[in-house]
Amino acid sequence: MVEARGGNDSLIAMEGLSKVYSTKFVKTTALREITLKIGHREFACIMGPSGSGKSTFLSIAGLLEDFSTGTYLLNGKPVKAMSDYERSLVRRNQIGFVFQGINLIKDLTVLQNVEMPLRYLGTGKIERRRRAIQALEMVGLAGRTRHGPAQLSGGQQQRVAIARALVGEPSILFADEPTGNLDTEMANSVMELLGEVHVSGMTVVLVTHDPLIADQANRLIRLVDGRIVDDTSG
Ligand code: ADP
Repeated sequence: MVEARGGNDSLIAMEGLSKVYSTKFVKTTALREITLKIGHREFACIMGPSGSGKSTFLSIAGLLEDFSTGTYLLNGKPVKAMSDYERSLVRRNQIGFVFQGINLIKDLTVLQNVEMPLRYLGTGKIERRRRAIQALEMVGLAGRTRHGPAQLSGGQQQRVAIARALVGEPSILFADEPTGNLDTEMANSVMELLGEVHVSGMTVVLVTHDPLIADQANRLIRLVDGRIVDDTSG
């Protein structure tokens, strides 16, 4: 039996959450009765075969997508009750995202890419610069501020994307197959970095299908056909 953990300290608390995609002709149930809690400072990994609902889970957890039934409290607040505007504020202030396709803006420098979320937050120019440099220091790329993304390796680009996700000091970092397009060495350096991010006090929720990557998390949640079939810490 899969038991919800996390207690009152939960950052994410879902109960009986389901997601059905409906088109004119077909209904697909992507998530079925998900009940789980993820606490502050956890490093949780979501694993499962293709089509098991991992990306849907991350999109819903990160407020990019709505769910069909059940409840979801993020930091104690019911997500269903939030307006679109409130959700966008929560996304901006509390959530960092890293994707497999790295999504840096190619015409901007590394520094400008990392500053971008702070522009949306209305942070002033000097503070923006200071925090972006600090985030780049954390990912070991402070010496590359003036480079364009194309002048960096895939692993370095992903590190910049992580800096960009962290610069707004979110309470949670969601990463969807962040090492998917990288060779082993680069993947290891990105995973090492995510480990450091976690140790620095951040909650990290990572989707992967790679068991070696999953080994590095403290908690492994397995999805099959939209259901949690296993939830193990260690
Ligand atoms: P995973 O990330 O584990 O590969 P997904 O969350 O992408 O799985 O998909 C779970 C299920 O939901 C799949 O059957 C997929 O086809 C379906 N699905 C995902 N997104 C949509 C969508 N926008 N419209 C319809 N079905 C979708």
